Amino acid sequence: MTKNHSRLETKLIHAGEPEPRIAGAVAMPIFQSATFEYAGETNYHDLKYIRLNNTPNHAALHEKLAALENAEAALVTASGMAAISTAMLTVLSSGDHLLVQDCLYGGTHDFLTKDFPSFGCAFDFIDGDQPDSWSRKLRPNTKAIYVETISNPLMQVPDLKAVVEFAKAHGLVSMIDNTFASPVNFRPPEVGFDLSLHSCTKYLNGHSDIVAGAVIGRRDLIRRVTHKLNHLGGSLDPHAAFLLHRGMKTLFVRVRYQNESALRIAQFLETHPAIAKVNYPGLEDHPQHRRARELFEGFSGMLSFELRGGTAAAERLIKNTTLPIIAPSLGGVETLMTRPVTTSHAGMSVEDRRRLGISEGLVRLSVGIEATEDLIEDFRQALAAA
Ligand code: PLP
Repeated sequence: MTKNHSRLETKLIHAGEPEPRIAGAVAMPIFQSATFEYAGETNYHDLKYIRLNNTPNHAALHEKLAALENAEAALVTASGMAAISTAMLTVLSSGDHLLVQDCLYGGTHDFLTKDFPSFGCAFDFIDGDQPDSWSRKLRPNTKAIYVETISNPLMQVPDLKAVVEFAKAHGLVSMIDNTFASPVNFRPPEVGFDLSLHSCTKYLNGHSDIVAGAVIGRRDLIRRVTHKLNHLGGSLDPHAAFLLHRGMKTLFVRVRYQNESALRIAQFLETHPAIAKVNYPGLEDHPQHRRARELFEGFSGMLSFELRGGTAAAERLIKNTTLPIIAPSLGGVETLMTRPVTTSHAGMSVEDRRRLGISEGLVRLSVGIEATEDLIEDFRQALAAA
């Protein structure tokens, strides 16, 4: 009998698992072999080799990831940036132009502003919330439009349905970084996005112990991205693939808990007199709260906030909390806190940060799976001293 894989929780456990089980193993074994016996392949990309992204560990992950977002196909990569850069360099060639959301993860912003021109590619920033303004930036050579589901670090939610419609109307490839939402909260292919990108380093793996990425979406595009990755070489090692596979099995329970915990912490912070502003799409006064409610099944474990006392107060808060670990990255089981200007967005110019509203004192929080009350108590005592 075929297994019923209709719900995400079940797919996380069963989709893509080898059938029959390899030597009866309940957990996917690690195939730590760079190369595999030649079996008559006639195409370079079909040779079994780790860099060609086709070992049993890769195949199992590809099937599971595609199933999670109800997509045609998926590809794992050596990092989130390998997924983003390889996908962009597949969709765009020298002479092409990209429309891209203005507030982005710092690494993606850096790649576009510092590396993209050397590939002969151009881009224009767009405001993800103003679809009427996008056609003014369109050029005859525009090939793709790129956004983040929930932007890093301000937690803005672009008009995602309008992105898909705009892409279809103008023959563009629609691309989205879905890292912050994770497939638990949002599945971009279901609303028509062509490519959904992830830093699997974050929620998908969930344990802050590997770096990995994924590209999920249309089969024809995934095939092209795979061939590009085969040449550029940003392929995932089987041991990291094993850890990602293992981490993904608990994605649903982790993210559901993190959604609830982050909402309660955001509500606590919002009413605290020392806090000036909280950015969290689950709060009713978030500018895109209605859109987020319509599109998402949860608002994620990520939030950012500013203190009335500015940067000095933010630094005191960071020093006085005892549970959050002060570190970049996100999506793990432990709560992480950082000031984006010193970490994820350190590469962005001061003018760009100011224009986008990323202040010096902005604090970003990735809520882990500790007891929510313990985290709130910790913030309460640290804010009293801030
Ligand atoms: N996308 C987002 C939203 C991120 O926050 C990050 C890393 O922080 C990346 C992509 C890059 O991922 P990686 O560090 O796995 O290359």
